[in-house]
Amino acid sequence: TTHLVWFRNDLRMTDNRALHAACEDPQARVMAVFIATPEQWKQHEMAPRQAAFIYQHLQTLQHSLAERRIPLHYHQCDDFVDSVNWLKAFCASEKVDALFYNKQYEINERLRDDALEKAVSSDVLCHAFDDSLLLPPGSVTTGEGSMYKVYTPFRRAFLDRLTESDSRSLPAPKARNTQNDVSLHRLTPFDFPQQSVGEDFPVGEEAARDRLRTFCRETVQDYLGQRDLPAEDGTSLLSPYLAIGVLSPRQCFNRLRTECPDVLERRDGGAFGWLNELIWREFYRHLLVAWPKLCKHQPFIEWTDNVSWRHAPQDLQAWKEGKTGYPIVDAAMRQLNDTGWMHNRLRMIVASFLVKDLLIDWREGERYFMSQLLDGDLAANNGGWQWAASTGTDAAPYFRIFNPTTQGERFDTAGRFIKTWVPELSHVPEKAIHQPHRWAEKQQCVLDYPAPVIDHSLARKETLAAFESAKRRN
Ligand code: FAD
Repeated sequence: TTHLVWFRNDLRMTDNRALHAACEDPQARVMAVFIATPEQWKQHEMAPRQAAFIYQHLQTLQHSLAERRIPLHYHQCDDFVDSVNWLKAFCASEKVDALFYNKQYEINERLRDDALEKAVSSDVLCHAFDDSLLLPPGSVTTGEGSMYKVYTPFRRAFLDRLTESDSRSLPAPKARNTQNDVSLHRLTPFDFPQQSVGEDFPVGEEAARDRLRTFCRETVQDYLGQRDLPAEDGTSLLSPYLAIGVLSPRQCFNRLRTECPDVLERRDGGAFGWLNELIWREFYRHLLVAWPKLCKHQPFIEWTDNVSWRHAPQDLQAWKEGKTGYPIVDAAMRQLNDTGWMHNRLRMIVASFLVKDLLIDWREGERYFMSQLLDGDLAANNGGWQWAASTGTDAAPYFRIFNPTTQGERFDTAGRFIKTWVPELSHVPEKAIHQPHRWAEKQQCVLDYPAPVIDHSLARKETLAAFESAKRRN
């Protein structure tokens, strides 16, 4: 029998449920396939950096699979429709008996998988696995069987289920028992804009696992105190690996439990604080499945679609480029543009600034983030934006508006982070770093740094009025 493993965003050998299942029968001929769909990726705003990260990981995956005598076939076509047609023909030509894949939960991906299963149903047995979450969507529900809309009760139910579920990690498969050596072909680069990944995120499962181990051993205890400070290395920096499946959430949970065995008992500790973030990741993915409209750029709270957003292309551009005149916002946006990653506290600050200070539609920000992020993930990104914009379920209420200056003072007090990314302000004294123009005025000097694009207290009033009027019109 021939087993085909279809890799998508699960680019790892270890703890990969589809791969593991495909290899269980020692007699089976096992092959793997990856299909690049650049036009579809463009529609999904995938960041060129993320495409490059995927490409790098495909190369290492090809090697690791070859060591186990599993060939990786690689094909490039336009979009999901083409990929279904191609895969159907490939299954026929290779006489595939069974197809193994790990589920993706976004709507287009689910429609693609349904179409494929239908197309091959008479010849190929399809095995789909819940792999990218600790608990599958639909398995954590209220007494009435529906998805939670609020995070805290979701987490309570989630933890109850987690302790009774099997979340062990699976080993990488052993080498196949065949004499045939697998030849390595150079994989054609994706037909997609090129951008380098940079050095902050080394390639490979091993690098990701090393980072996870070190984080759980050395950093996680201080997570609660450090996680909001962008100038510190207080978070795991694992999101790019989780987003494309180089690492699984079970590996994260199991490593955490090994290093901090009392994680579930000591709920005020850093280890539980970190697990809490992994559960947010689950919450947002479960929401996508329960409310597919979230995949279609629709707000969870419908009346928020009545907000009269400003059409302000110059302000939007200033935000994108990190030239708003608000130092913490600009430093954060420059970090994003330069590295493809941004600290969580800063994601909240810049998102709030775009929506609540500039009154620009949150979908502009969501789209821009996707186009830049190495860890771009529809569920987490949409969840984060809808949280900040007060359009989501269990989001910040609309009248809660971050003050970008006090946020900077609180979380980057000495301006260390700001000075790393906004060199124009390197000579401004610590105390003045969050309002450099006031200082410059007193010093009677001119800063080579933009004046604030908007006055925060006026903007705040206008935003409140815009949300209130939208709510009244409901
Ligand atoms: P850690 O603090 O070490 O957390 C561990 C893991 O938990 C992360 O790697 C991530 O997988 C998950 N996680 C942490 N916080 C969240 C959260 N709030 N929501 C969902 N999952 C979380 N995360 C993405 O992975 N992709 C995105 O596209 C994305 N877009 C965001 C957009 C906005 C506006 C906001 C406010 C948040 C967004 N996040 C996104 C969530 C969060 O900012 C990142 O996951 C986190 O900063 C990644 O850094 P880390 O790996 O060091 O996180």
